[in-house]
Amino acid sequence: MHSPQEALSSLEEKGLLRSLRQISSPSPPKVVINDHELINFSSNDYLGLSQHPALVEAASKAIRDYGTGSTASRLVCGSLDLFHRLEEQIASGKKTEAALTFANGYATAMGTIPALVGKNDTIILDKLAHACLIDAAKLSGATLRIFPHNDLNKLAKLLNSSKGRTLIVTESVFSMDGDLCPLADIVSLKEKYGALLLLDEAHSVGVLGPNGHGLAEELGLQEKIDFQMGTMGKALGSAGGYLAASRAWIDLLINKARSFIYSTAPPPAQAAASLAALKILVSPEGAEKRRTLLSLCRLFDSPTPIVPRIIGENDEAIAASINLFKKGFLVPAIRYPTVPRGTARLRITLSSSHTVPQISELLKAL
Ligand SMILES: *Cc1c(COP(=O)(O)O)cnc(C)c1O
Repeated sequence: MHSPQEALSSLEEKGLLRSLRQISSPSPPKVVINDHELINFSSNDYLGLSQHPALVEAASKAIRDYGTGSTASRLVCGSLDLFHRLEEQIASGKKTEAALTFANGYATAMGTIPALVGKNDTIILDKLAHACLIDAAKLSGATLRIFPHNDLNKLAKLLNSSKGRTLIVTESVFSMDGDLCPLADIVSLKEKYGALLLLDEAHSVGVLGPNGHGLAEELGLQEKIDFQMGTMGKALGSAGGYLAASRAWIDLLINKARSFIYSTAPPPAQAAASLAALKILVSPEGAEKRRTLLSLCRLFDSPTPIVPRIIGENDEAIAASINLFKKGFLVPAIRYPTVPRGTARLRITLSSSHTVPQISELLKAL
């Protein structure tokens, strides 16, 4: 075992050392670092809702009405009406019987996947699935199978040879590449082989679909997906994760999902802000914000607000990020293990609160 200093030096030698940078405001379009104002192309606040007056007021009111903390697990202390209202709204948007919320998306994956499958089962994951899905799959004890990114032939082969209950896990918008999964084809395959499908809509909620509920809504496939997962920490401008599914699955999760059972419920204000965000999502204002966002995406020829610029080597990606920083743009460099080795990149994320001139300036700087 290496000492922490040795481990850190080794990371540094490989160009993989990460450190924290203090900021004084998190949301786009601007961010302030050491009194230096930058245009922020690094947040997942796709609709700028984290600063929206309706969310701020809803959260403030919830603090006044309920206080700052939830004080215990929902199974111990009683389950606050706000969480139930939020879960009803999520289920209605997702066209499912029920939903369950968690402290964040990571805790959602860690709690749900091991409750859905176990030792004699199989999980089939897209190679580029988010770290929380991979960690949760490992924790479940099920046999883990990986298919190359969006490779339907390989997925079909794995389905054909899988044992026990089989759960396919993929994302609608991939978090580091900004591309979409071929959802209709994956649904056909899951039906053909009698597998279950968990779709993580972390980056598509707020962005895609006639009411902003994501890719499954856009394609009219919500009722064919067993588990629709997501986070309220990105386009919904708040925090929290959820899983939407049938009543029976959700009741099972209430009994089995350890990150739900053994954790204090999130602050009431978090649920109140999420409820306010969902209200905006389905309103004309939400539709307008989505239209603005998608028109900005088109300036990059991108179907989603995640725009990767693959660079290759870690130090070159970092140098490019520092270069943009000096020109007034916050664009993070993303390295292994977040993305495969040799594919270090700049990751630009767009928000409806960016302006066309801000984007033009960035394009020029790139
Ligand atoms: C961000 C993210 C999560 C985790 O959600 P948090 O609420 O941030 O914990 C899960 N899945 C994907 C694909 C994500 O991008």
